[in-house]
Amino acid sequence: MFHTPPRTTGRRGSHRAEEEKPPVTGKLAAVVAFGTLTAGVGVAAGTGTQITPIAAGTDLAAALAVSSAPQPGPIETRHAIEPGLETAKLMRSEGLYARQVVGQAIKHASDGYTARQAELKRQKDAEEAEKARVAAEQAAAQPPPPPAPVAQPRAAAPRVGAAKPAEGSFTSGFGSRWGSTHFGVDIANSIGTPILSAMDGVVVEAGPASGFGLWVRVQHGDGTITVYGHVNEILVSQGQRVAAGEQIATMGNRGQSTGPHLHFEVWIGGSQKIDPIGWLGERGISL
Ligand SMILES: [Zn+2]
Repeated sequence: MFHTPPRTTGRRGSHRAEEEKPPVTGKLAAVVAFGTLTAGVGVAAGTGTQITPIAAGTDLAAALAVSSAPQPGPIETRHAIEPGLETAKLMRSEGLYARQVVGQAIKHASDGYTARQAELKRQKDAEEAEKARVAAEQAAAQPPPPPAPVAQPRAAAPRVGAAKPAEGSFTSGFGSRWGSTHFGVDIANSIGTPILSAMDGVVVEAGPASGFGLWVRVQHGDGTITVYGHVNEILVSQGQRVAAGEQIATMGNRGQSTGPHLHFEVWIGGSQKIDPIGWLGERGISL
């Protein structure tokens, strides 16, 4: 008797055509089977036994089991078919082995890559940890930063023995003005505002002056003379020693003046008139 190969659905390699194919009988079955599958099973023609054709997806082991089972009748085509069957078995086996080898190689390479990445990450993490440790050590080793210096007001700048000659608004600078030269700076404020000696010195002149109404001139240790013009009242006398910041007069509007202000000049060496801004600035005083 023939053993019909088990027909199960969903088996590997099965497809719909196989499932829908009805069983055929006799010689026709052998032809169909042979034409459908190279490694088909030879059957005895004319036995009348109902068999099932082996389709392309039929398991070869099952086919082999069928072909090697005891055969009641002559099997003329068996020797012609067997080489193909063995070849198919060999090819399938080799193919499986090749796939396994390739798969193992891929997995091995993948594992190696993953391992290298993990090692690189470990190294990087270790480096970062070492950097952090060194930074922490350095931070701990350094002395605490000194307290931030407290901002000092301008008035507390190092004194060089100089004083601002008068408080008020800076209204005119040194240089050309109205077609002539203005040889000093103007500081405007109300009449009576104190006028101070810019540095220690000796009063060399205190009295009337052309254009200035009244002025005071003080000569300092290096020969420089400072001039205070348009004053309203003179509080010192010629030959008097004065200190830096000592009041010598009051602000006025005498002489050629358009409003109460102090006209202040600096004569280097007692004669060279320069811009008082720079001279005062060198002594820590700004207008
Ligand atoms: Zn002036």
